[in-house]
Amino acid sequence: MKIGFIGLGNMGAPMAANLAKAGHEVSGFDLAAPCPDGVSKAATAAEAATGQDVVITMLPNGAILKSVAAEILPVMQSGAVLLDCSTVEVDAARAVAADCAAMGLGFLDAPVSGGVGGAAGGTLTFMVGGDDAAFATATPLFDIMGQKAVHCGPAGNGQAAKICNNMILGVTMIATCEAFALADKLGLDRQAMFDVVSTSSGYSWSMNAYCPAPGVGPSSPADNNYQPGFASELMLKDLRLSQAAAEAADADTPMGAAAAALYATFVEDEDGKGRDFSAMLPRFEKRGHS
Ligand code: NAD
Repeated sequence: MKIGFIGLGNMGAPMAANLAKAGHEVSGFDLAAPCPDGVSKAATAAEAATGQDVVITMLPNGAILKSVAAEILPVMQSGAVLLDCSTVEVDAARAVAADCAAMGLGFLDAPVSGGVGGAAGGTLTFMVGGDDAAFATATPLFDIMGQKAVHCGPAGNGQAAKICNNMILGVTMIATCEAFALADKLGLDRQAMFDVVSTSSGYSWSMNAYCPAPGVGPSSPADNNYQPGFASELMLKDLRLSQAAAEAADADTPMGAAAAALYATFVEDEDGKGRDFSAMLPRFEKRGHS
């Protein structure tokens, strides 16, 4: 396939490189980052998008997605698919989808989980919104960049799935960390805490697969001085997206709101920026009840 790839940052560069390695013809553009091996460098986003079967975007936020879409939609060939893999507002995805439909283009929102390791290893999970025809076009590309693509319904539903998942993740990570800090103060050994909770009703991905306590459970960023992994500021971004969506949809999400507020404090007023989101545990360790 002929592919345009716009946004060659931490995630986009390895994803584009994997597509090129698999034999696709990839033209890349980024405002700042260099092109990875095998990807030919375009001078502008419009140049990268011209004449392609699929144009993939992997950008920081919805405002940038909209401005890039305004630049590339008019030059994309009729019937081509815009595949946005960024994490953005549900409303931004649906707005770009409507613009694509009006211009005879396909659109998929396909945010990912799996992080930089998953992007490099081609093991991402894609949560996909959009119509069946566009999903069929993109499926061979999902197979190269990832291990699983779940079609969640019409445009915007991929973003909906992503932010709901990460709202659960943020809340359970905080709950797991505060429970460890309480267990410490009650004199409960961390290994015993893990052995009980990971096989009892408090288990979760945060405890079982990504344990925030160093030296306990499987290897995780806690064992590497809380180097990300998944940085706290990225968790904050996703929690804010879930709160914006909850407000727009009039949904009551008190735990999500509390998690967003706590990660905002951690990232903006404390030492959370650049640390893994599981570094909530050392944060709680240092604090008392009030
Ligand atoms: P990044 O900041 O490393 O990459 C974004 C790239 O977009 C940068 O290289 C930047 O120069 C480029 N860019 C910005 N504006 C542009 C424009 N107008 N035209 C062309 N290029 C432009 O971010 P990332 O970590 O690669 O994340 C990308 C997206 O993936 C985000 O939406 C993020 O939330 C999501 N995501 C990231 C992770 C992760 O672990 N990093 C995991 C899941 C999802």
